[in-house]
Amino acid sequence: MSENIKYNKTKIIATMGPATSSVPMLKKIIKAGVDVCRVNFSHGDWGTHLEVVNNIRQANKELGSNVAILGDLQGPKLRIGEVENNSMLLEEGTVMTLTTKATVSSGNTIHVKYSTLARDVKVGERVLLDDGKLELEFSKRIDDSTVEAVVINGGPLSSNKGFNLPSSNMSVASLTPKDKKDLEFIIKHEFDWVALSFVREDKDITELRNILTENNCHAHIVAKIEKPQAVENIDSIIAATDAIMVARGDLGVEMPMEQVPMIQKRIVTKCIEASKPVIIATQMMESMITSPTPTRAEANDVANAVMDGADAVMLSAETSVGDYPLKAVQAVERILGSTEMGWNVYNKIMKPDPTSRSFISDRICYATVSMSEGIGAKAIISMTQTGYTAYKIASSRPNCDVFIFTANKRLLNRLSLVWNVRAFYYDKKTNTDDTIRDVIAELQESNFLKDGDVVINTAAMPVVENRKTNAIKISTVGE
Ligand code: PEP
Repeated sequence: MSENIKYNKTKIIATMGPATSSVPMLKKIIKAGVDVCRVNFSHGDWGTHLEVVNNIRQANKELGSNVAILGDLQGPKLRIGEVENNSMLLEEGTVMTLTTKATVSSGNTIHVKYSTLARDVKVGERVLLDDGKLELEFSKRIDDSTVEAVVINGGPLSSNKGFNLPSSNMSVASLTPKDKKDLEFIIKHEFDWVALSFVREDKDITELRNILTENNCHAHIVAKIEKPQAVENIDSIIAATDAIMVARGDLGVEMPMEQVPMIQKRIVTKCIEASKPVIIATQMMESMITSPTPTRAEANDVANAVMDGADAVMLSAETSVGDYPLKAVQAVERILGSTEMGWNVYNKIMKPDPTSRSFISDRICYATVSMSEGIGAKAIISMTQTGYTAYKIASSRPNCDVFIFTANKRLLNRLSLVWNVRAFYYDKKTNTDDTIRDVIAELQESNFLKDGDVVINTAAMPVVENRKTNAIKISTVGE
């Protein structure tokens, strides 16, 4: 891993698009601090996605970096169809007809692309159009394909805008036919993470996991929390998934926006307790889509995510189509670095559960992090085969470096999403003493450690047997 790459404990995710996907630009944003590249399957085609994936891998090769690739499935995003002349005006109090029968929207008729709309909605429920800018209330069911709704908040509407049904029970599956097709691409091209949109319950995750397992795919799952039902079912969703994204764009449409800040805080705390990485997404540097500097409020929003304890913050249009993608990453990187100097980011140490099957390893991770504070350790250095120790140690938010050594190549990129974790490849099957000496020497050679630094190693002894973590050793580098 190169020293020229900016690094903070909180990770940065950049969404790919024309503004960032060339190799030279990718190298710039990776050097500026990007840890994960998000390929958004809501836009673009497989040809473009393949070029982006190849370019990310090329940039990784040239920089010696481990940037992860996250594929974000579109999910059941509801959309209206074409609008005549791409423009219509909805006036407050007007009764509109929403139907799957029309081929184009015009006058008082809106063509919706959602075949079970009339079955799924009830009179009195709301429909929000264009990210919540327009609001209607269902007033009458006409037949199986048509309903009426009164305009509560009006405004202009153009073709293919999204719509949300925050209080309705959607019968549509979380994994759409398009998602299943896109998954073939994600599996074939060995993405590190796959994000599932509009998750409502743990079964949605299980369905995706079954497909991944059947295809021998090792990608791990990010559940996007953007529906009220997901907030209600958050505990079982966290238990079923590998990571969470607080997808504030749709969440703030589906739920009153004033509830989103506390939902964010609650979800982050729950994820830390469960040792599952959590991403804060959307509108973090929104004004930087067209401006070279962020607003003060945006700087505060990024800092707030760090203080909450998020593993990663995500940029969307700022890096995919924005005018200042590099400046947006640089601004986030500086805010992360500055905020991480504050004391309140660290030590969210959770006492291990004695009834857990992994209690001994958990107890070792807990002791390691507590001890790292007490002795002023420069680094925790852990060996892992599954990544479990990395997630566990990171979730206590230690204020020293965390270096993970593994013979599992898939972990090198995947762990880039995890707070404060830097992963290195190590596959020698030797005794514990030699292994510890080797990994310290490697970190010294790369200038991550120097003589006199105190470090804590965790390992599974004997190293050759790939057991669960069962040992802690403290050493002073050079002695
Ligand atoms: C969101 O809604 O905040 C989000 C991240 O989802 P997407 O960008 O896929 O709409």
